[in-house]
Amino acid sequence: MTDCLFCKMVARQIQPAVVYETEQVLAFRDIHPKAPTHVLVIPKKHLPTLNDLAAEDTALAGELLQAVKIVAEQEGLAQSGYRTVINCNGHAGQEVFHLHLHVLGGRTLKWPPG
Ligand code: AMP
Repeated sequence: MTDCLFCKMVARQIQPAVVYETEQVLAFRDIHPKAPTHVLVIPKKHLPTLNDLAAEDTALAGELLQAVKIVAEQEGLAQSGYRTVINCNGHAGQEVFHLHLHVLGGRTLKWPPG
């Protein structure tokens, strides 16, 4: 998608602060962190929302979760704890319509979210 911000990061037309990358997945620091550590894990394939995940994307979904786990370990969050969030569409406040998993940690996070 030519006008998608995160696709531009995958293509390196915009340079993200990359913390992890595989053939299918990219993880980079959120530009407006909501916690001391805030990383976004995205599929390189353009999927606008979680609703667009197809049966054929099942392996990709697993790879995204593996990436979250690896990022949490790399960032020193695995033992202290962290939260993974996927915002989907309007009521969740999704702003960027390229599927992404937030990885938030480094402080105590409140529950339930607002
Ligand atoms: P969401 O509300 O779930 O769609 O989250 C989108 C996230 O993308 C927000 O946390 C933004 O701070 C983040 N974001 C927006 N632009 C950039 C950017 N250029 N680089 C890194 N993160 C960004």
